[in-house]
Amino acid sequence: MGNDDKPKPDFAAGLKALAMPMTSAEQVTDSSDYGKTPSLGNVVVPTEITVKVLNDIVDKYIDKFVKRFPKLIMQVHFTSNGQPPTPPDLWDAEAEKPVSGRFLKVGNEYRIGTNNDLILPAQLMTFFHEYGHAVYKREANEAIDNSHALIRTETAALLSSLRLSEEEGLPEIAYLSVYGARQAALTDPIYQAAIKNVEADPLWQKYSEQPSD
Ligand SMILES: [Zn+2]
Repeated sequence: MGNDDKPKPDFAAGLKALAMPMTSAEQVTDSSDYGKTPSLGNVVVPTEITVKVLNDIVDKYIDKFVKRFPKLIMQVHFTSNGQPPTPPDLWDAEAEKPVSGRFLKVGNEYRIGTNNDLILPAQLMTFFHEYGHAVYKREANEAIDNSHALIRTETAALLSSLRLSEEEGLPEIAYLSVYGARQAALTDPIYQAAIKNVEADPLWQKYSEQPSD
């Protein structure tokens, strides 16, 4: 099968901007800092995303996925580096990098990794994105082993993050998705091409610029 089941990990470049504001106990000087979010440029990050909201949405989409594709299994792992558990035969240099998330097909098991160091809205955005890779893998059933296929799957993932945000009534997550894609596109031509592909999409246009008030 070669490496066709190993699309590259996502958003390594933009990761820092979406990381939790505090990562070690020493940095906690005031408990009121909890719940605050780091500055994300103009992106307003919602505060209503709790762990429960995140888990409920993830469970709902896992359920949708396996109802649609009954022969498949979907597992979502929240890990400290964003990588899902990677079996030895799929292991590569990419598997050690901290990333926001990654989709990996392991036989009939569709694994999604999500970095639990990210703020909760970014974890949800990452899940919506990786879910798009999973659905694309099943629908297109093509090897993701060249830049054209990579662009197609990134385009699908970007649209997925916008559509699911819209479906869930969470525009803030859609804005975050646009922000994340633009951050990644600063250094990655694959994301640049994916953004070009969705520029005419009504959802991209809707969330492309956050209204200022
Ligand atoms: Zn992606």
